[in-house]
Amino acid sequence: MNARSLERLTMTSRIKQALEHNEFALHLQPIFRAEGGDLAGAEALIRWQDPQLGMISPSQFIPLAEELGLITHIDRWVINRSCALLAQWQQDKRWQGRLAINISAAHFCQDGLVKALREAIDRYQIDASQLELEITESSFIQSFSRAKQVLLELKLLGVKIALDDFGTGYSALSYLTKLPIDKLKIDSSFVAKVPDEYGNSEIVSAIVAMAKNLNLTLVAEGVEKPCQHQFLQRLHCDYLQGFLLGKPCSSEEFAKRYSLPQPRTPQIYEC
Ligand code: C2E
Ligand code: MG
Ligand code: MG
Repeated sequence: MNARSLERLTMTSRIKQALEHNEFALHLQPIFRAEGGDLAGAEALIRWQDPQLGMISPSQFIPLAEELGLITHIDRWVINRSCALLAQWQQDKRWQGRLAINISAAHFCQDGLVKALREAIDRYQIDASQLELEITESSFIQSFSRAKQVLLELKLLGVKIALDDFGTGYSALSYLTKLPIDKLKIDSSFVAKVPDEYGNSEIVSAIVAMAKNLNLTLVAEGVEKPCQHQFLQRLHCDYLQGFLLGKPCSSEEFAKRYSLPQPRTPQIYEC
């Protein structure tokens, strides 16, 4: 128990230090329209560049940050950085897509998310309709009515809401008709098994049909193979994201790749 307490204490101070020393970076992965293949947006994915350990993946530190109660600081860093970047792109006028950011369920369930977003939107003077929040079903397991209220307030700010990792949670599907959600992101675990694995393609087809009937936009995550790409195009899935089409890269590299202005480091971080 002592060893574990010490490890938690060390990690708490290391994550705080990483925020103070600016060791986090925003990577971006492109999202494409399935029909025509145009660039339709990007997802912001955080990276931790530890001076000793090198690049640390979010799957390694996000669950820990949630457990240690530090996720709000990290999410707010991402919100500020993403809004600053979007402001730059909107001023430049070449960017027509959306920028999506991941909001942890632990953060979503706390007070203050709507206020933090409103402040960032005002501070950077962005058109919020190009900002998308990716949340997971676990965000509304604790209290459905509170989640609905938060989502309605977020929608009033003008942001779009996407449901990430769709198909992996345990909630009742009826929430799709009760919550103001714009988009579903089919989890990569389903995409990985199309078109061959028995039953899986049928599930993906059913998700696409359901999304269309409910007027929800659909993104397939984790597209790695041409056969998956073709299968999803045939189903008329709206957007595709995955290593086959574009891997996540630094925001500088992304700007170079898609002829956007090089990101400036914003002055204000309110974590
Ligand atoms: P996610 O939001 O579902 O993000 C998609 C993950 O799939 C990313 O991993 C991305 O690099 C990876 N990916 C994309 N295309 C492919 C593909 O074709 N094949 C494979 N194998 N993987 C693909 P990443 O960046 O390691 O992020 C993992 C998770 O960590 C994210 O899953 C998200 O839940 C969380 N995360 C990442 N950035 C943030 C952040 O800024 N804030 C919060 N709260 N969570 C974040
Ligand atoms: Mg995501
Ligand atoms: Mg996902």
